[in-house]
Amino acid sequence: MMMQSFMIIYTYKEPVEAAQIIMDRMTMPDKPLYSSLFEGLSMCKEIGNIEQWADIIKKALSDEEYVVNAVLKYLKMNINEYVSDEVIKGIMPDVKRQFRSWLNKPLMCNSCKPPVQLDERGFCPKCHTGRSLPFAVFFDVFLLWDHLSLEEIYSYMEHPVSELSKAARRGMLAYLQKYPDLIQECIDAIKNNTYNARVFDVILKLPHQYVLPYKQEILEIANSDNHRCIIYFIRRLNRLEWIDESERKEYITRMIGHEDQDIRSEAMAAHLGEKTDRHIFDEVFYRE
Ligand SMILES: [Zn+2]
Repeated sequence: MMMQSFMIIYTYKEPVEAAQIIMDRMTMPDKPLYSSLFEGLSMCKEIGNIEQWADIIKKALSDEEYVVNAVLKYLKMNINEYVSDEVIKGIMPDVKRQFRSWLNKPLMCNSCKPPVQLDERGFCPKCHTGRSLPFAVFFDVFLLWDHLSLEEIYSYMEHPVSELSKAARRGMLAYLQKYPDLIQECIDAIKNNTYNARVFDVILKLPHQYVLPYKQEILEIANSDNHRCIIYFIRRLNRLEWIDESERKEYITRMIGHEDQDIRSEAMAAHLGEKTDRHIFDEVFYRE
């Protein structure tokens, strides 16, 4: 019903008027916000009252999670076509405040009665269902509007909520391609154990042109006593384009004789994987 009335608004009004009608509805006291209002707003490619717009976004982020998800989805759209970078940057500190508040508040299961608090992974210990928590979408919004530092991205890479840690790892991969100068910083941090092996794995996932300048340093880590890094390296080895066949074979053979049992079995799996269909092998062994 609501979408239908939006269609009427878009058909008969200028975009800026349509946006105003929707925003006025959104700011009516005692009227709830709906995700469809943001869907409606996303169809208006012109916003007149930017101040009102910014206030709506900030306020809606403290609403119910389905509204928050709708706002974040909206913020992931090409809003910079009609909202200036300055305005977007201006609301980001508020968005981040809301993100932190979501991260810190105790969250309850929506199905269980009486309410049960979700565990640190975002799942109910009683009925084992999760909630559609907006963490990952928050993260994607910050990444899109460049409102994260390398350290911040790193700090969420091991978060117990898997949606968020996955978003952070994807984010790190995108970030290093956007700011390739930071690859060196990451490599140094891995070497001195400030960053963990997960960052090494992200570096190994980068397209080869980004990694090539750091080949020697990467091999140095792959030959160090950092067992976790060695395991990630072996797992990716068959797919690395920047390492030649003889180097790869020599490494695998050496690691098959490693003192650590986990490393030995990963190396053997990689050795066998090279002989069998690599894609099937990837499916079975490389699944995370
Ligand atoms: Zn439950």
